Amino acid sequence: MTEAFGFAAFAVNEELQSFTFERREARTGDVVIDILYCGVCHTDLHIARNHGGYTTYPVVPGHEIIGRVRQVGAEVSRFAPGDMVGVGCMVDSCQHCQPCLKGWEQDCVERPTFTYASTDRHDGTPTFGGYSDMIVVSEKFVLSLPSGLDPAGAAPLLCAGVTTWSPLHRWNVGKDSKVAVVGLGGLGHMALKLAKALGADVTLLTRSSGKNEDAFRLGADHVVLSSDPEQMAELAGRFDVIIDTVPYDHDVNPYMATLALEGVLVLVGYMGPLGTPVNAGGVVQGRRAISGSFIGGIAETQQMLDFCGKHNIVSDVELIPIQKIDAAYERLLKSDVKYRFVIDMNSLNF
Ligand code: NAP
Ligand code: ZN
Ligand code: ZN
Repeated sequence: MTEAFGFAAFAVNEELQSFTFERREARTGDVVIDILYCGVCHTDLHIARNHGGYTTYPVVPGHEIIGRVRQVGAEVSRFAPGDMVGVGCMVDSCQHCQPCLKGWEQDCVERPTFTYASTDRHDGTPTFGGYSDMIVVSEKFVLSLPSGLDPAGAAPLLCAGVTTWSPLHRWNVGKDSKVAVVGLGGLGHMALKLAKALGADVTLLTRSSGKNEDAFRLGADHVVLSSDPEQMAELAGRFDVIIDTVPYDHDVNPYMATLALEGVLVLVGYMGPLGTPVNAGGVVQGRRAISGSFIGGIAETQQMLDFCGKHNIVSDVELIPIQKIDAAYERLLKSDVKYRFVIDMNSLNF
């Protein structure tokens, strides 16, 4: 076992605190990574504060990891000490089910091993995430960071990037597409950047009135206040794809009305029951669809990173010391983030 140091949530109503713990011994196919940066995803907050009711404490959150390879096992061929690498939401999967064979490890029928709040499928040890100084990961789940990308800005690509890239890719977004993004936070701002780089006409649907200038800078061609029925009515029948990043229960019917013929609303934010029933007429008429999307596969994540390397796309980040993590969570709850907090892991030494 290797001793690691990080920050953990120990109970639902307590601030995160420093935590010394054991990482599993590196196996022959493993990469040992010194963590430099870790993005702060809204999922970290959901799990640290037990929004889903299933958190087992202590939990070390963090699945937007950028680091430098410290050491590799004898069977590792793609990485060497000193390489800059990324780790996202998953660190393992069964590797033999149909989704795994298709490269959709995130939908592994035996469930993937998640980067944190999960259990190693070989030795049963708990997984701990990126709010820490180092991590041990199977080579298959380690991503190459394209040279030239700012490492702090690249960290959020590992979750927010691929989670929005995957549905844009799945629904063939390109220069003839009209795309809407609901919610301008971590996922939303990556969706704007990626959809724009793919050539789409991009609209932000936001409930916040103060985000227009940033949204245009991030890639939006149009910004609409979703709480204004008049502005929403003007969008009737417009979008081919809507990426809905809202983290909490909300009424999707007003968004359905803005879909074009055969348009699709893709839920990526909220995963619980919708409190307002979906009007079936809004789906049946116009051959519209409601879909969903969960992270993205490993090959797809590398494809997204390479695309970002080519187009020089990174996240807009606010770099924070780890000691400010609870303040960052409070700001996330107020939609006050520009547009991803990233922890500078140097701060662990303070
Ligand atoms: P975030 O940075 O907090 O951004 C969420 C944005 O949604 C906010 O900035 C706000 O944008 C809007 N919003 C927030 N609360 C809202 C509410 N009650 N009603 C309407 N709009 C609201 O969060 P994130 O990190 O992007 O994550 C978004 C969600 O995606 C989280 O639930 C997270 O767990 C989930 N997630 C899913 C996957 C997946 O694989 N599917 C992966 C990562 C994260 P405006 O102010 O512009 O309206
Ligand atoms: Zn995430
Ligand atoms: Zn599988």
